[in-house]
Amino acid sequence: MTNPCPCGRDADYDQCCGRYIDTGAPAPDPETLMRSRYTAFTLRKHPYLIKTWHPKTCPDLQPGDLEGTQWQGLEVLRSKTGFKKGYVEFKARYVDDGEARELHEISRFQKIKNRWYYQDELEQWPGEA
Ligand SMILES: [Zn+2]
Repeated sequence: MTNPCPCGRDADYDQCCGRYIDTGAPAPDPETLMRSRYTAFTLRKHPYLIKTWHPKTCPDLQPGDLEGTQWQGLEVLRSKTGFKKGYVEFKARYVDDGEARELHEISRFQKIKNRWYYQDELEQWPGEA
C-alpha cells in the first residue's frame, strides 16, 4: 500500500474511502459511509461531512471546527443494515488539546433516494434494553 486509508481497512485511500469522498460515488452501506466520514474528519474534508449528514440533523459545521483534533484510529464494533435504517457502533481514538480521548458511539443512518446519511447518535443499540 502506498497510501493506507485512515479508516483502518486494509486498502489504499483511493480504493477505499477516497472513492466516496473524492468522486461522489454513494457509499453502499452504513458502515462504509461511517468509515468514509471518519476518514473525512481526519483529512478535514468539510464538504463531504455536510453532504453526508442528514439535512434535518446537520449542524452548522464550519471548516474551522475540524481543526485541532488529531484522529488516531477507528474500530468498528458492529453494524447492522436495514432497508432504510442502519446502525454502526464504533470507537474512535483522538487527541484533543494534548489529551488522548476515545469516542464511543452508536450512530444511526438513514437511506434517502439510494444514499445513506448520518442521522444521529443513539443511547443504546436498537432492540437492546
Ligand atoms: Zn477507508
